[in-house]
Amino acid sequence: MGMTIGVDIGGTKVAAGIVDSGGRIRDVVKHPTPWGDGEALADTVGAAVRELRGRHADGAIAAVGVGTAGFVDADRATIVLGANLGLHEEPFTERLRRRVDLPVVVENDANAAAWAEARFGAGRDSEHVVCVTLGTGVGGAIVMNGELQRGRYGVAGEVGHYRVVPFGRRCGCGNHGCWEQYASGRALVGEALDLARAEPKRAERMVELAGGSAADIQGSAITRAAQEGDEGALACFAAVAEWVGLGLADLAAILDPELFVIGGGVSDAGAILLDPVRDSFARHVTGRSTRRLADIRIAELGSQAGIVGAADLALR
Ligand SMILES: [Zn+2]
Repeated sequence: MGMTIGVDIGGTKVAAGIVDSGGRIRDVVKHPTPWGDGEALADTVGAAVRELRGRHADGAIAAVGVGTAGFVDADRATIVLGANLGLHEEPFTERLRRRVDLPVVVENDANAAAWAEARFGAGRDSEHVVCVTLGTGVGGAIVMNGELQRGRYGVAGEVGHYRVVPFGRRCGCGNHGCWEQYASGRALVGEALDLARAEPKRAERMVELAGGSAADIQGSAITRAAQEGDEGALACFAAVAEWVGLGLADLAAILDPELFVIGGGVSDAGAILLDPVRDSFARHVTGRSTRRLADIRIAELGSQAGIVGAADLALR
């Protein structure tokens, strides 16, 4: 297999990279993301692809894979809804193919990143992997029998919006009680803010690391405080980890994976998150006294996963 180009379209920047068949990135270019204009976005991605090909004229590029936020249809051609990009029913594959004269596929960005983890990262030895991204919200993707599961309409694996609390916290999706309201980076910050209001002394170190104001606390300050051993920050992680483990337990009841891979900003805390998540999972999973428990690991590829996954999926 030759090389492919993977493109990660984010809300602020487009990152494109040449990726070899082993999942290694050879070169990357980045451009700002134009908003609300599919032709302009295709121009930007097309220019990035040409730039990379110009710099690597010796290597034949077989295809282009694009990972993008939002819903992508199952035939991998249309961005059905890219709210963060201001796009709706956007025939992006066709637009880009005209510009680059190569086979093009479009994937949901969470699916692309998860595919990279499943194939080249923490899941490379497993055929049944569920990837969960704990960022501002919660994303996910499902790999079963070594295949990415897209569902009939391309939106399988949206685990952040399955409901763990009936009539619970309001979610941006319009429902209440979605998992991401309890298990995300935003939920972690919410725990810290609650603590700062209710028991200010226990939140002192987090407030200090945030520059002196509780309102400025972000995930990074909570992670740093927890790494220093701060009791309040560890309590915030424990609360979120309980919800993460509970959600994974319910996913295990349905999907029975061999491995869960946890990525996203919250996972930067490593064992501070992972240990209580494993503990919670083991307490909540059905059949816990008899079944083999799925392993839970932290993602390995970081921010490169989107490019690597999109590139590898371009040939599948
Ligand atoms: Zn939701």
